[in-house]
Amino acid sequence: MSEPGLDRTAAATRAAELRALIDDYDHHYYVLDDPRVPDVEYDRRLRELQAIETDYPDLVTPDSPTQRVGGTPLDAFEEVRHETPMLSLGNAFSEEEVREFDRRVREGLEVAQVVYAAEPKLDGVAISLAYENGRLVRAATRGDGASGENVTENVRTIAAIPLRLRGEGWPARLEVRGEIYMPLAGFEAFNAAARNAGERTLVNPRNAAAGSLRQLDPKMTAARPLAFFAYSVATRDGVPDHQLATLERLRDWGFPVNPEVTTVRGVDGLLAYYAAIGEKRAGLGYDIDGVVYKVDAFDDQETLGFVSRAPRWALAHKFPAQEEITRLLAIDVQVGRTGAITPVARLEPVFVGGVTVTNATLHNEDEIRRKDARPGDWVVVRRAGDVIPEVARVLVERREGELAPFEMPAECPVCGSAVERDEDQAVARCTGGLVCPAQVKQRIGHFASRKALDIEGLGDKLVQQLVDTGLVGTVADLFRLDADQLTELERMGEKSASNLVNAIGRSRTPELGRLLFALGIREVGEVTAANLARHFRSLEALREADIEALEAVDDVGPVVAAHVRAFFDEPHNIEVLEALRDAGVRYQVPEDTSGPQPLAGQTWVLTGTLGMPRIKAKNLLQSLGAKVSGSVSGKTSVLLAGENAGSKRDKAEKLGVEIMEEDAFQALLREHGLA
Ligand code: NAD
Repeated sequence: MSEPGLDRTAAATRAAELRALIDDYDHHYYVLDDPRVPDVEYDRRLRELQAIETDYPDLVTPDSPTQRVGGTPLDAFEEVRHETPMLSLGNAFSEEEVREFDRRVREGLEVAQVVYAAEPKLDGVAISLAYENGRLVRAATRGDGASGENVTENVRTIAAIPLRLRGEGWPARLEVRGEIYMPLAGFEAFNAAARNAGERTLVNPRNAAAGSLRQLDPKMTAARPLAFFAYSVATRDGVPDHQLATLERLRDWGFPVNPEVTTVRGVDGLLAYYAAIGEKRAGLGYDIDGVVYKVDAFDDQETLGFVSRAPRWALAHKFPAQEEITRLLAIDVQVGRTGAITPVARLEPVFVGGVTVTNATLHNEDEIRRKDARPGDWVVVRRAGDVIPEVARVLVERREGELAPFEMPAECPVCGSAVERDEDQAVARCTGGLVCPAQVKQRIGHFASRKALDIEGLGDKLVQQLVDTGLVGTVADLFRLDADQLTELERMGEKSASNLVNAIGRSRTPELGRLLFALGIREVGEVTAANLARHFRSLEALREADIEALEAVDDVGPVVAAHVRAFFDEPHNIEVLEALRDAGVRYQVPEDTSGPQPLAGQTWVLTGTLGMPRIKAKNLLQSLGAKVSGSVSGKTSVLLAGENAGSKRDKAEKLGVEIMEEDAFQALLREHGLA
């Protein structure tokens, strides 16, 4: 709104200011694909200017942003003139504005009720696709509406766009218009990869799509996950005479058309559609910023015609914004279950994406540096769908005075252990493992969860109580709890206490795979845990396994192997494992379905140079059920002796342990089909 009582001089000054500001925003948005401010802020400024121009129509200039669309095309691409201009759409933010639109349409057509095509408003970038004799000959951006950029080579790399039309009945010349967009999954994956590689992330899917489309090297465009929906044709030649029917025809010719497009009757139909799509918005998998209503009959569209920059027969009804501006009050760090330390932005509360947001993720230290986020800054917060709110960018140009840059703490804010950061990893971690209270609660929760030890009744709240009251410090303490201790807890009756003790008792004999998963070793999920259990068949064997032995397991690469090794190298963790054993936890070894276990119960020791790598011999023995140990003792069943066997052989002889030579070993393997 223009400020009430603004006199003509003040209005003229403010209008000039706003035009300069909006021109700058437009340049960043349309030409550089790197917006300075969120759309809501842009829309607020544009509306302010429109209000002034409504109050003082003589202040309207032909080059006012209210009179034109888009941005000047980039010189880097060949210019394409649009035979039919590519216009903007009138906007509505409220129900009243929609009713007003419908009223104008009914008046213009002199009818009581109008049939509208209703479509999601995709938040991507408009494209014109020209086909001649069924082949794609040219693709152009909207540019300033009158002429755009020739991006044909880039568009050819987008799989969703047909290079040749399918079916039949298409006109010799056809110009299809639609939106190129980046699906959210692709956007998130692209940013996650960029973050890991320490590269710049894309601000939002809309600008990501626009920027990807205007890469000078088509290979760059090809590498971006872009998709497309068709929503109109430039001329009526060779298509049905209604919007929805035309879209259905385009679908037959091979164009993706949004599955949510439909027709509705009257303003109530429009509002119901808006509400229905609003409900679905978070689950669509791509950003939409509203819905678009179009008078369905093309003849009626012609009757209604255009105003300066938009058709009178269409309206964009916008959803609440997914990006807003707010103040970054502080940057805290949070410690996750696996010790990952994530910086979190504490924000001045802001309404965005349909909720009030007070925290947003900043991902990691590098990301903070790249964005140059400092407590006190103005930032753009983005919350789209169910994605965690994030600080999309920092409005560095609005910074007032000196602000101190963020420093990652050297110590874990929860347990005081050192914070470590692997050289090639973006994430910093607390090294406190199973003893860090921040991790302990989550680790116990994970330990008790359904896919781990499945301790019924041990939910997050209870875990919190148990840890806070000091009854439980590590997972091993769970097995020492008794019902009397538990009834001391708030809101814990005798019945629940004994149920819990029983549930804990029942989980005392987990399968080895579940136990491994329950320990929360970094990057060891259920499947890897099960593979490790099947391969090693005992905690002791796993604990002794070196990197090479670990990498011999399905699914285990160098990274997982290193995490497993690091877990067992950490004395705190071994203490917890021993405490679990002392508390009576006995894991079960899964049935080995891979073959017979003729050596089950035997302990073998390897010595000397064998005809195969020692790790291979060890794996083969384990697959036959043997335990493989490093030193000879009274418990050793067999010593496998290669060439130049030394002191172990002497010891075995002394203890009367069976000694097997390589030839006999080979024969044993042959007997079991392993050689
Ligand atoms: P618009 O985005 O409101 O509407 C026109 C566009 O809608 C078309 O070009 C087309 O690409 C798109 N569209 C999506 N689905 C459609 C469908 N089903 N049918 C028809 N069209 C469909 O108008 P505009 O002129 O492109 O730009 C205005 C928008 O851009 C506003 O949302 C504004 O906030 C934003 N903007 C932001 C900044 C900034 O700095 N943040 C700067 C300039 C513009």
